[in-house]
Amino acid sequence: MRINLENLVRVYRSSSGADIPAVNGVSLSVEPNSVFGIIGKSGAGKSTLVRIMSLLEKPDSGAVLYDGERVDTLDGRALTARRRRIGMIFQNFNLFSSRTAAKNVAYPLEICGLPAAEINRRVENLLGLVGLSDRASSPVSRLSGGQKQRVAIARALANNPDVLFCDEATSALDPGTTRSILDLIREIQRKMNLTVVMVTHQMEVVRDACDFVAVLDDGRIAETGTVEEIFTRPQSPVTRSFLANLLPGGSHAEDSKPASGLVRWSEEGGEYILRFVGDMTGEPVLSRLARKFDVEFNIRAGGIQHLPEQNIGTLLTDLSGSKEELARALDYLRSEGVLVEKATEAEAWT
Ligand code: ADP
Repeated sequence: MRINLENLVRVYRSSSGADIPAVNGVSLSVEPNSVFGIIGKSGAGKSTLVRIMSLLEKPDSGAVLYDGERVDTLDGRALTARRRRIGMIFQNFNLFSSRTAAKNVAYPLEICGLPAAEINRRVENLLGLVGLSDRASSPVSRLSGGQKQRVAIARALANNPDVLFCDEATSALDPGTTRSILDLIREIQRKMNLTVVMVTHQMEVVRDACDFVAVLDDGRIAETGTVEEIFTRPQSPVTRSFLANLLPGGSHAEDSKPASGLVRWSEEGGEYILRFVGDMTGEPVLSRLARKFDVEFNIRAGGIQHLPEQNIGTLLTDLSGSKEELARALDYLRSEGVLVEKATEAEAWT
């Protein structure tokens, strides 16, 4: 299913009477059959946006379209019927903790009034899909965080939704469990041809699970593109600061794939970020650079980010020399296909 958002606005009123524009003119197109990430800092408007997209809340103005059809104006029975085909999972799982795993998955099917035998058959299949067949009769309170999220995923899929919204679904999980849940979501997305919208504040989630991403800042879209585009050519300061968090010294550096982070050799910041996309390797380009031009370079840090389809090598380097020589050297790097950026303060690992 394709989702289009057209100029959505949602303004809250604070207790002191001030207007808070939580979502402030958001337009987006979410491709069918893909995983679309929405990343933003706390307070950026992610939860509000996802509540509007999933028809839990109405915008003050603007429109939400599913496959070209306006859905934000639905009410009553039409809204209930449409919402049944929307799956949602949350950071805190929202399960009945005294019920068993199977009874939690059965819940939305019971509400629809399916016969008991059909419910049992569907629940068995769903628990199998999320790898929890042997935990069907365990009370949820006895399951681990990862297992709880698997139950929540099975429940979200019970009514064969065409879209799955994940609101910070892995934020309460450790890095290993996060990866296994993201892998499961991707696998299910492919199997069921689902459109998945993943709201997160972690660039690792975007890197490991998404095809497209929109960066939300202060209620507006700062930039949007494929994950590869955002990782290789970040345009906005907020995107850059998210990427900087993946560098050593960044706030998320200690979790998530240590083998694919950057390795830091020096405490000081590098002046340029050089990105090598795909099979390109940095070494010969840099040794040629040193031979051809009268510049010095010093590598501060380096590493590889593994995206689902592509690897991106990143080097943080100091480059010094005369202004003209430096400009020629940078042009040479660019002509060789290296993506060159001046490091910002956020990336200087203060
Ligand atoms: P995020 O999910 O990115 O943290 P939210 O959508 O929760 O962002 O919040 C965006 C802004 O809207 C914040 O300033 C928040 O305080 C405000 N906000 C969210 N929900 C409400 C509400 N129900 N009433 C008043 N203000 C709200």
